[in-house]
Amino acid sequence: MELNENADIDTSQVEDRRGSGGPGGISLGGGGGLVGVIVTVLVALVGGGFGLNALTNGGDEQGDNTAIEQECAADDALRKLDCRNTLYVNSIQNWWQRALPESFGKTYTESDTVFFEQAVNTGCGAADSGVGPFYCPADDQVYIDLTFYQQLADQLGAPGEFAQPYVLAHEYGHHVQDLLGTEAQLRQRQARDPGQANQLSVALELQADCFAGAWAKNATGTADARGEKIFTSITDEDIRQGLETAAAIGDDAIQQRSGGQIDESAFTHGTSAQRQEWFKRGYDTGDPTACDTFASGR
Ligand SMILES: [Zn+2]
Repeated sequence: MELNENADIDTSQVEDRRGSGGPGGISLGGGGGLVGVIVTVLVALVGGGFGLNALTNGGDEQGDNTAIEQECAADDALRKLDCRNTLYVNSIQNWWQRALPESFGKTYTESDTVFFEQAVNTGCGAADSGVGPFYCPADDQVYIDLTFYQQLADQLGAPGEFAQPYVLAHEYGHHVQDLLGTEAQLRQRQARDPGQANQLSVALELQADCFAGAWAKNATGTADARGEKIFTSITDEDIRQGLETAAAIGDDAIQQRSGGQIDESAFTHGTSAQRQEWFKRGYDTGDPTACDTFASGR
């Protein structure tokens, strides 16, 4: 994977809330409707301290992009994690601007990515880094503590750089599901039929993986506002790293790593094999309409 050093990095698509203190204290408890890439993983790894409190008022924090704007305007911007991730967000959204109308006849509306550290207030309640990156449908934003990538490398065995755009593209897949109404329909079905809740969650997650694969296929066609390409190449090695990441965060891999028995009924994101399969299907077709995980007997 090579990023184009001439591409403009649009920092207006991210909001830097690091160093702003975050919410006071970590909330516990379930619910809230967050859709994390690997919510269950970090519970198993870190234990406790995870969860959301839908009663907490959230979303009223202000970010400060002064530092990131300077950092990403500098000559060595692409050496910076912040700037590369901002550019990944730019690429993913640039693709959906075209792909959503073409594939689903809907207009894409942008969603910012909030960079936070440790804990953050969101429209879905307060959350801490333990939940992993997530999308909040209530305020239409993606949230990520970028130190997550270190955990992905050190604890989950997915050290490749391509894990980063894969994770972001997965979260933007949830934003698209929100725009399409898929997410809301699924929550209603889950409420009506709690016995199917986990299976429905798996279908939602695998579709987000497939959307991530479809973006990866089209990433070299994405551009900044001036039409300058964002990626000059995506290689087989990148796709291998994407698949490695998908495998690392499969429910079975996570259960195994946490020393527990494999309990399929507790799966919420899909197995390693399923996550790889759907990422690959998205990549092979490059077509988000090929990502109908709900019609695949699940
Ligand atoms: Zn997810």
